[in-house]
Amino acid sequence: MRKFNILLIIVSLFLIFGIAEGKTERTIKVGLITGQSSLTISLGPEDQVFDLSSGAERLLPVEEEQVIFTYLGNKILINEHPVSKGPIIIKPGNELLNWNDRQYRGQFIIIAQNKTLSLINHLTVEQYLRGVLPGEVPPEWPSAVLRSQAIAARTYTMASINRHNSEGFDVCASTHCHVYGGATIEDPATDQAVIDTAGKVITYDGKIITAVYHASSGGFTENPLNIWGFNYAYLKPVLDWDQNSPYYQWTRTIEWKNLQVQSLLKYPQIGTLRRIQPTLFGENGRILKINLIGDLGEISIIGEHFRYLLNLPSSNMQLGIVYGPEPNITLWWIRSTSIPEAIIANNDIPGLTGELINPPWDQPDPWAWLQDKEPLRIVVKGSGWGHRVGMSQWGAKGMAEAGFDERQILEHYYPEIKIIDESELKS
Ligand SMILES: [Zn+2]
Repeated sequence: MRKFNILLIIVSLFLIFGIAEGKTERTIKVGLITGQSSLTISLGPEDQVFDLSSGAERLLPVEEEQVIFTYLGNKILINEHPVSKGPIIIKPGNELLNWNDRQYRGQFIIIAQNKTLSLINHLTVEQYLRGVLPGEVPPEWPSAVLRSQAIAARTYTMASINRHNSEGFDVCASTHCHVYGGATIEDPATDQAVIDTAGKVITYDGKIITAVYHASSGGFTENPLNIWGFNYAYLKPVLDWDQNSPYYQWTRTIEWKNLQVQSLLKYPQIGTLRRIQPTLFGENGRILKINLIGDLGEISIIGEHFRYLLNLPSSNMQLGIVYGPEPNITLWWIRSTSIPEAIIANNDIPGLTGELINPPWDQPDPWAWLQDKEPLRIVVKGSGWGHRVGMSQWGAKGMAEAGFDERQILEHYYPEIKIIDESELKS
């Protein structure tokens, strides 16, 4: 009985400490690289290497400065000596850890998976954010933008914990999660934004939100339904403040042959692309759905997938197709209907020198009048950069320059949210 009580006290203390520690020092495991046959780490004089294969830490005597980890016969080798099945932990001495010409806070964990090695950086969420923020927003931007970005990135990170659970870490270090550059890319201005907003996260209805953000929406942020097929109450389209964004308006010209190649790679089942036909439109003629018609079949894709196909800045776009030979005829879908305007001209910009013609769109085969012509290229006029859902970074800059603070910026782009300390979150 007495033994049981002591055990209970120890377990309770552990839980209390665990929770208390979790409030201020929540940690994250960042997968720096996976699938490696070998990993080379430069150790500092005070760095220590531990074997954790038995559950308890066992210090490994490592003399060399340059350590090469490999994997052979179910064991991780250190400079060709088999030492452990892993994990292996590397703890820093007085300085930061080094890998691949970059410095890192926290610890390294090396694990063996699928007969290869993965390198994981284990550190606090706050340390992690210092290595994320400079990659997301220029440190010289107004401090209210940096603080907005720190809160949004922390919120997104908290919602991403366990995202790569099956690989042994929480988040990866690429655009899939957040681009993470370690301590090497830290900047005093973004560090300060992380410190000033420590622990602050965005919630809706008491739960942490999916705090997606993007560079610039092109005037109005997007409904996630049009991009990912789902809706959240706090991700509504709102007016953007991104008029000074370099991505506010853009034009791209893509040769038809290039479009055919990309289509064949991505949608080989439809054969060689012969025609494209927008079928669903948002306001101002922007394209929500488009049919790709090939000689073997056709496929309907959303605007966002058309954006990926051609690596366009955003899917907030109007479409023109130039048919030749001369006189060229450009079809422009700018009226939010599947019937395009047709313009005869030798340039691609509508409304300059073109002559508007009335094609026989009411005929059974309205495309027959174009049978002597071939598509030469498409012209895409668009605005915005990224998926355009949630906070716009260029818009946040516009708001900060107009005097708004981070709370006002976040409440604008994520309507009806609450910013709280993460310790107030109900688990
Ligand atoms: Zn990821």
